[in-house]
Amino acid sequence: MRYQSTRDKSISFTSAEAIARGLSRDGGLFVPEEIPAITIEEIEKLCGMKYQDRAVYVMKKYLDDFSEAELQDFTSKGYGDNYDSDKIAPVYKLDDNTFFLELWHGPTCAFKDMALQMLPHLLTASLIKNGEEKQVCILVATSGDTGKAALEGFSDVDRTKIMVFYPKDGVSDIQKLQMASQSGNNVGVCSVVGNFDDAQTGVKKIFSDAELRERLAEKGYFLSSANSINWGRLLPQVVYYISAYCDVVNSGAVKLGDAINFCVPTGNFGNILAGYYAKMMGLPVNKLICASNSNDVLTEFISTGVYNRNRKFFTTISPSMDILVSSNLERLVFELSGKDEEKIRGYMADLNTKGVYTVDEKIKSALDADFAAGCCSEEETKAIIGKTFSEKNYLIDTHTAVAYHVMEEYRKDTGDDTVSVVVSTASPYKFCAAVLEALGQDANDDGLKLIDKLTEVTGVEAPKPIVALKDKKIRFDGWVNKEEMIKVVEDFLV
Ligand SMILES: *Cc1c(COP(=O)(O)O)cnc(C)c1O
Repeated sequence: MRYQSTRDKSISFTSAEAIARGLSRDGGLFVPEEIPAITIEEIEKLCGMKYQDRAVYVMKKYLDDFSEAELQDFTSKGYGDNYDSDKIAPVYKLDDNTFFLELWHGPTCAFKDMALQMLPHLLTASLIKNGEEKQVCILVATSGDTGKAALEGFSDVDRTKIMVFYPKDGVSDIQKLQMASQSGNNVGVCSVVGNFDDAQTGVKKIFSDAELRERLAEKGYFLSSANSINWGRLLPQVVYYISAYCDVVNSGAVKLGDAINFCVPTGNFGNILAGYYAKMMGLPVNKLICASNSNDVLTEFISTGVYNRNRKFFTTISPSMDILVSSNLERLVFELSGKDEEKIRGYMADLNTKGVYTVDEKIKSALDADFAAGCCSEEETKAIIGKTFSEKNYLIDTHTAVAYHVMEEYRKDTGDDTVSVVVSTASPYKFCAAVLEALGQDANDDGLKLIDKLTEVTGVEAPKPIVALKDKKIRFDGWVNKEEMIKVVEDFLV
């Protein structure tokens, strides 16, 4: 199968090439030329398999330049005892028509692990297939979860180095500790004075610096990105939608072939887009419900067809969804437009120059057929964490809470009582302070102390990697101004 750019369909690559490149040179994103199908009979077969085998089966459809043996090797390494659940992505039944797909049983306790425990294997194999002789240096700007998940995924992986930049005062105590204590001989971490945008702008500048690229090539390196525009990050996420469907069928809540809903806490639109690809393959999905926090640019887009980034930016208690430009949306609009590259070029140019674009009628009605959307305030986020714990004894994090709230509102507004899966994206222990406050507790304390407090208050066991933070040594405590980021990278790649 070949992959084309959303902005120029004549650009076409194998999957190994698309994964190694990450982003197309024309600024477009890589999408599969055709979406492979999955039949109900195949889904029935997958119902009887374990997660790793489901992953091989689904990914093989998209990666025909990889052998089954290779993919088996990757899934056994990527989804093994680095997870604290042998189901890898278990589905939790809250009541007869509400399930939570728990995607945070990996080493960094957020859903980013589902992709970032797989991407390093896909990427290093792709480099070998492409005959690439240079080493790759992964550069990441993170608002928290991606940085740690990427560090953990690439730590001590052959032929790779990884450098992560995070905003000095823009991540939670736990997130900071997780990154600053990262092990591995090929990793670097540095904080940047400013907010996430400053870090991100700095990284983008490094990527577009042609002279730097040449200097690094002489040293035997090239730069790549682990952020969610890489197809190698999206594909592993398609798997868990299909896997969750199998588990809901296995639970007896629906019959094989019946459609279910998914509600997804959304930031960069990577997670929910994977759900869309699963639906396009033939997975029985009724609605994909896109949940936002106070940064409601996607709620507005899905209800009106106008994408407008000219708005106030809110810093919320669900920080991984604090985003104004959802990069992966470009892929969705491309698919919904009937792969109209010229339209996409126009929309993206408008977004760049005016900060706003409006999709046409055809795209809007296609959007309405598959998607619903809603947003959730800070108060509502806390309220539903408290309510879910007191009434159902189930503890959820702030991001998952946004999705659960939006799903409940959607049910009330539409009367749609389809069996639904809330996609649960982080362990509540990653956001102890906000979760404790939601439970009516005082959270004015050191991040590490709050871990114990959350355990005392709820009786819910903390994930091992979070408990282990207490004994970890800080390896990286440096910070720089954004102008110095280039130098940090050059010093790192000696
Ligand atoms: C990254 C992240 C999200 C948003 O996912 P996107 O793929 O960017 O839409 C939601 N919740 C958590 C906990 C995350 O880390």
